[in-house]
Amino acid sequence: MTQAATSPTHSAVHSAATFTGLKCKECGAEYEAKAIHVCELCFGPLEVAYDYDRLRQIVTRETIQAGPHSIWRYRPFLPVTSQNPIDVGTGMTPLVQANRLARQLGIKRLFIKNDAVNMPTLSFKDRVVSVALTRARELGFTTVSCASTGNLANSTAAIAAHAGLDCCVFIPSDLEAGKVMGTLIYGPTVMAVHGNYDQVNRLCSEVANSHGWGFVNINLRPYYSEGSKTLGFEVAEQLGWQLPDHIVAPLASGSLFTKIYKGFQEFVKVGLVDDKPVRFSGAQAEGCSPIAKAFKENQDFITPVKPNTIAKSIAIGNPADGVYAVDIARKTNGNIESVNDAEIVEAIKLLAETEGIFTETAGGTTIAVLKKLVEAGKINPEETTVVYITGNGLKTQEAVQGCIGEPFTIEPKLDAFERALERSRTLGRLEWQQVMV
Ligand SMILES: *Cc1c(COP(=O)(O)O)cnc(C)c1O
Repeated sequence: MTQAATSPTHSAVHSAATFTGLKCKECGAEYEAKAIHVCELCFGPLEVAYDYDRLRQIVTRETIQAGPHSIWRYRPFLPVTSQNPIDVGTGMTPLVQANRLARQLGIKRLFIKNDAVNMPTLSFKDRVVSVALTRARELGFTTVSCASTGNLANSTAAIAAHAGLDCCVFIPSDLEAGKVMGTLIYGPTVMAVHGNYDQVNRLCSEVANSHGWGFVNINLRPYYSEGSKTLGFEVAEQLGWQLPDHIVAPLASGSLFTKIYKGFQEFVKVGLVDDKPVRFSGAQAEGCSPIAKAFKENQDFITPVKPNTIAKSIAIGNPADGVYAVDIARKTNGNIESVNDAEIVEAIKLLAETEGIFTETAGGTTIAVLKKLVEAGKINPEETTVVYITGNGLKTQEAVQGCIGEPFTIEPKLDAFERALERSRTLGRLEWQQVMV
C-alpha cells in the first residue's frame, strides 16, 4: 500500500511520516514501505530509512518528555504514520542501579534495564510487537502471526487481542508451560510444531507467502525490529541524556543488539546526546552459540547450529542478524561470550538474590556472561555498564525448579516456628538448598 497524497486524510497522514521507505542493508536499493523484508536484487535484509534532517527539526528532549510514558514518546523514530498507535503501556521500564550485584562482581557503576516487567507480557518483545502491529494495521492486515521461541507469541497474541486483530502463532512444541499458557490465554490459534525454532521459521515463511498474513518477524520484520531501538533510547534518556560506556545484551537472531546500536546512533545524529564510544557485548547460551563462535573464530559468516539449551527464548540456530551483531561487537571493542546451562541457573539466582529481579533463562545468560566478562577483565570496573534483562522468570519456572530450596512447612504454633527458625539458622540458606537438591 502506498501513501500517495490523493486525499486530505492521506496527505495529513503522509506529512506525519518521518520515515522515507525501506532500504537494503547490503546494496542500498530502496523500496516503498510495504510488507516486504528481503531485497529483490541481492536478497539482503531491508531496513527502515528516516529523514534525519526532519527529525532534527521536530524532535527535542522536551518534545520527547512531553510524550506518553511508553515507547510512543519516541514515535518520530518509529516506522508508523498513525497518530494513535497501539499503546498498551509498553516501554519506559525501570533502569535500576544495581549496587549489590556490582559490588559482588567487583565493578562500580552497573545498571539493569529491567524488561522483565515490560507491559503487557513481561518481555522486551512487547516493544517490537507494538510497533509491528501498528504498522500491520496501517498496511491493512486483519490477521497477524509470528514464528516464536515463546515470548514473541505471548506479545503478538496479547497485543493482537487488544487491537482486535485475528492471530495465529507458531511455536516449537517443546516450549516451557508458562510460555504456552501465556499465549493461549489471549485466545489465538496456536500451532505447536514438532521441530526447533529454525524449522518453525521456515514453515512460517511459506505460510506468509501463501496466506497474506502479517508475520511480525517475517514480512513485517523491518518495522518489528525498529521497536528494539527504544531499548537504546530509554537508556540514554534515563541516564540523563547520556550514553553508557558498555552494554551487555542477549543475542537470539541478533536483531535487538543491532537495534540498540542504531538507537544510540540516531540520538547522536539528531543531537539528543553527545557522541561517545559505547562498547557492545553480546550473550549466548553455549548450547546455541553460533554468533559467539563466529566472533571468537574471527569469521564473517555464521555457521548454523542445532540448539540444545534451557535458554529456549534465545535458541536460534540460524540467526538472521548474526553477522551484523559480530560486526558491531568488533568495531566497538566489545565481546560476544557464551555460558553453559548451569551457569545460567546460577546467574538467575544471583540476580534475584542481589537485586530482587527474577529473570528468565535469557536474563540468566546475560548476567552469567556479564560475570564472565568481568572476571576476564573485559569490563573495566570504572565503566558505566548497562545490562539488558529481557524476560521474566515466572515464565521459565522449569529452569530453576529443584535449585531454589523449599519452604519450611510448619504447624500454626509458635514453638513449631521457633524450631524451624533454629533449623534454618543452623543449616544456612545455601546448605539448606543443598539438602533439598
Ligand atoms: C527474543 C528474545 C531476545 C533476543 O531477540 P533477538 O532475536 O536477538 O532480537 C532476548 N531475550 C528474550 C527474553 C527474548 O524473548
